[in-house]
Amino acid sequence: MSSRTLTTEAVVLRSIRFSEADCVLHLYTLAKGRVGGIAKGVRKTRSRFGARLEPLSHVELLLHEGRGDLHTVRGAQLVRSHDRSRTDGYRLAVGHIGLEAVLRLFVEEEPQPPAFHALTRFLDLLDDVSTTLPAQPALEPLVLSFQLKLLWLSGYLPHLASCASCGGEKPLVGFSARAGGAVCGGCAEGAVPLSEAGFLAVRGLLERPLSEAGVAGLAEDARRQCLRVIERSYEEHGGFRLRTLSA
Ligand SMILES: [Zn+2]
Repeated sequence: MSSRTLTTEAVVLRSIRFSEADCVLHLYTLAKGRVGGIAKGVRKTRSRFGARLEPLSHVELLLHEGRGDLHTVRGAQLVRSHDRSRTDGYRLAVGHIGLEAVLRLFVEEEPQPPAFHALTRFLDLLDDVSTTLPAQPALEPLVLSFQLKLLWLSGYLPHLASCASCGGEKPLVGFSARAGGAVCGGCAEGAVPLSEAGFLAVRGLLERPLSEAGVAGLAEDARRQCLRVIERSYEEHGGFRLRTLSA
């Protein structure tokens, strides 16, 4: 096998129809971080691996590094299909938020195994998320926790122990993405207001394992505050908004 071919686990973040038969794939891989791929012939009905290359799929890929930016997918084995999430409207919407967060935060071809493992854990847990309708996908504790962890893994380390602006230990009343964390009343201009429950929710979702995201039974208002903290962090640090969050 030539050195320009590699086998790696990957998650399909996005699949874009490219021609009559081909798809361009945005992939997050264990071995190389973010890569683009092209899967030839997958849109033909008798393709060997077309169905395995849908968004949410966790696969093992044989990739060939071509001359361009795109790796050619030479083979695909399913690790987990995540069909349970793909066939449920709520779980699918939650999954798309998680995929878009990875798509926007991890743009470099650079291995970051903790981010890959967080992504596969998120998808595994998503298969068992139960819905009590009406529920808003953007407020799902699992995806709030996943996004806070992704922000942390991307180097956006929210400072939550004391005021991120003045260092004081006065009661913390808001979250300032610009200051990099929780802030006191005197430094709260332009910050997202945080109630005590909201503050505890952000802290808990950041620090507890993903598998425990749902156990605290967080009130809707606390989850809304978490979402605002996440959105403000994306805007401040990355200059973007997630399309799936404004849907
Ligand atoms: Zn302060």
